[in-house]
Amino acid sequence: MSGFPGVCAPASEIYNNQMQELIRRLLAELGEDPTREGLADTPKRVEKAYKFLTSGYDADIDQVLNNALFTVDYSEMVIVKDIDFYSLCEHHLLPFFGKCHVAYIPTTKVIGLSKIPRLVDVFARRLQVQERLTNQIANTIRDKIAPMGVAVVMEATHLCMSMRGVEKQNSFAVTSAMAGVFRDNARTRMEFLELIKLRSGAAGVVEQRTPAGLACVDDY
Ligand SMILES: [Zn+2]
Repeated sequence: MSGFPGVCAPASEIYNNQMQELIRRLLAELGEDPTREGLADTPKRVEKAYKFLTSGYDADIDQVLNNALFTVDYSEMVIVKDIDFYSLCEHHLLPFFGKCHVAYIPTTKVIGLSKIPRLVDVFARRLQVQERLTNQIANTIRDKIAPMGVAVVMEATHLCMSMRGVEKQNSFAVTSAMAGVFRDNARTRMEFLELIKLRSGAAGVVEQRTPAGLACVDDY
């Protein structure tokens, strides 16, 4: 509540000011002068950027998929590959980004193709680890259309590693989530992996994927 009768600042405004104040303090802690010209509007810009980059928290999956679940007589593999995504690692608040490949084999329902990249964005625009992001996309598709199987593969560069020169050879991480026929049937899985032709080139990537928790080094 403000000190003025009948005037109450909206919660979002209080929140905004607090975040901008935190950024100002962060700049000072880094040894900068937050009042110098080039930084004067930085807290406002950083807040805006972070709100966009974490806007997935406010997204409603059902609203995103609204009117885009269709009943069809189709039981072949549906693939949407090379979906660009950008996310923030929750250990360092630094970007990781790359390509996401999604496949599923429908039973009775399909998702409008244009909705798949939006679904990826909903989960990417949060603080994430790549393994969880991969699983959330696969689980949502499984929950919404109960397909015979769903597969999600994500390949990403992690700036928290490449920018800091930490284990550069591992700054590119591949994660996968396979369910239903993609998990149980090696031929289906190989067909999918062949169709997406990973940048890393390894068809057997499912077995060689980065162990959970290692996509981002969290102890530096
Ligand atoms: Zn990180």
